[in-house]
Amino acid sequence: MFMSSEEYRESLRAYSPTVSINGRRVESVADDPDLQPGINAMGVTYDFALRNEYRPLMVATQHTSGKDVNRMLHIPTTTADLLAKLEAVRLLCQETGCAQRYLTGDGFNGLFQMTKRCDEDKGTEYHARFLDYMHHVQDNDLTTGIAMTDAKGDRSLRPHEQIVQGSYVKVTERKRDGIVINGVKAIVTSAPYMHEFLVLPCRNMTREDSDYAVACAVPLDAPGLTILARPAGRPGEKAAKFSGKYGQSLGALIFEDVFVPWDKVFLDGEYEHSEVLTRSYATHHRHTCIAARAGFGDLLIGASALMMEANGLNPGTTPHLKDRMVQLIKTVEGFYACGIAASTYGVSDPSGNMMPEPVYSNIGKLLMAEQIYDMHRLAHEVSGGLIVALPGPEEDHNPLAEATLAESLRGRADIPYEQRAEVARLVEDLTASKEAGWYSTISMHGGGSPEAMKLEIFRNYPIQDKVQLVEKLLDRGVLTKAGSAISDASQPGQCCDTGCTAPETPKVPDSKRA
Ligand SMILES: Cc1cc2nc3c(=O)[nH]c(=O)nc-3n(C[C@H](O)[C@H](O)[C@H](O)COP(=O)(O)OP(=O)(O)OC[C@H]3O[C@@H](n4cnc5c(N)ncnc54)[C@H](O)[C@@H]3O)c2cc1C
Repeated sequence: MFMSSEEYRESLRAYSPTVSINGRRVESVADDPDLQPGINAMGVTYDFALRNEYRPLMVATQHTSGKDVNRMLHIPTTTADLLAKLEAVRLLCQETGCAQRYLTGDGFNGLFQMTKRCDEDKGTEYHARFLDYMHHVQDNDLTTGIAMTDAKGDRSLRPHEQIVQGSYVKVTERKRDGIVINGVKAIVTSAPYMHEFLVLPCRNMTREDSDYAVACAVPLDAPGLTILARPAGRPGEKAAKFSGKYGQSLGALIFEDVFVPWDKVFLDGEYEHSEVLTRSYATHHRHTCIAARAGFGDLLIGASALMMEANGLNPGTTPHLKDRMVQLIKTVEGFYACGIAASTYGVSDPSGNMMPEPVYSNIGKLLMAEQIYDMHRLAHEVSGGLIVALPGPEEDHNPLAEATLAESLRGRADIPYEQRAEVARLVEDLTASKEAGWYSTISMHGGGSPEAMKLEIFRNYPIQDKVQLVEKLLDRGVLTKAGSAISDASQPGQCCDTGCTAPETPKVPDSKRA
């Protein structure tokens, strides 16, 4: 079953969640004006799957059920699947800025890999249980939010060491028919307008943290769940050319004695598998984030070019503007190319899905996280200061100033003021509004802070192979007879002194690396 955007909106009416926005209780998520830009953006992921021209990108066959499902909910099994997801997410984000729904697929992939490993290691029955749940979501075209990032409290302490109760979501009771969870997940995209949440651990866990090693699914309106959310985008603001229509809400999820039946529990205390889940999810998600921000970059490139034109300048004939545009293009296509490489060199996971190659996924996400501010800077530089100085749309028809504005704030003679103002407001919306701050912060921290990517790059990169390369040219054991200690310590599975379990991702042959 594939829903349309209207059917998706309607489906939200079946839920009665406890949602508050800025201290105001939300009566109906589907109708709340503060949430419309988010619901609109999510709706695009539904409508595009119904359009014939987008079907090859937006619809995929789920190998475990044989059914066609929305690409945002799919488990990839080939490198072509990874590439198709990348293209689909870029397409969706060109339209919406951020399509949000891809989080579901990333969560599914993390759980797909972890449950399989955990069953083999511990004799649990999570994988079949998870497949049943995933098929239910896919078959009903639902969307699940990712509730992974805990409140975390004091970052220097492990979950069980925290002084403030609830800093990490934990199992507080195990009953005959399920578990009870308590705690706070602090940052959840689209929280008010998801059908369900995948509650996942956000880090590796030790034996003492066992009760925090929990993965499960919880409906939007589970008794005991409170969602404190922010408006999606800039609803109702006239100047918000883009984010008045499309935006993203974020919510904090407070779990107070929330009961989860066993058929929705996918990890319960097997602490050794927490890191596998976190890391698998992160690799898929960082790969997806690359495409999402490339779609946003496409909007920046287009809006900057239009602004220059409205100003009367042609980047093709103005050397320094051409240079800035090339920098912008290089940045966007540079990190996107890492997404393509991660897809092409995707690695088959023992669970049966296809993982994006981790080094390229993490480098792409890292480049994007560090360069998003340059992207905004370049758009500011070529556009000029008018983008933050333009009188508001209310002045457009102010009889005192309308004629003067139309004359004096015109750029190129044949482009009317209204059109120039339209583009300027779009550039402001994307680069200098509160929503622009959202885009930079999600690029920086969404999917993990840059440090997390650096750790993964170092952990997965075959430095030892490079050492051997050089040793072949020089004498083997050129430094010491025992070999290179640095390279040995950086290899997967040797990342920390507690001896965590690394996902068994085969290494990409060195010859394939650029
Ligand atoms: C717009 C947006 C949307 C998001 N959507 C979701 C979502 O849908 N679901 C979800 O689960 N999460 C989501 N996230 C959360 C995201 O994954 C986190 O922001 C990210 O993992 C960083 O965690 P944090 O924000 O708690 O920052 P912190 O962990 O507090 O990090 C802040 C800084 O401290 C450093 N640091 C943290 N701990 C340590 C330590 N122990 N030792 C040394 N340095 C440390 C970090 O490297 C970083 O530089 C979203 C984030 C954003 C910004």
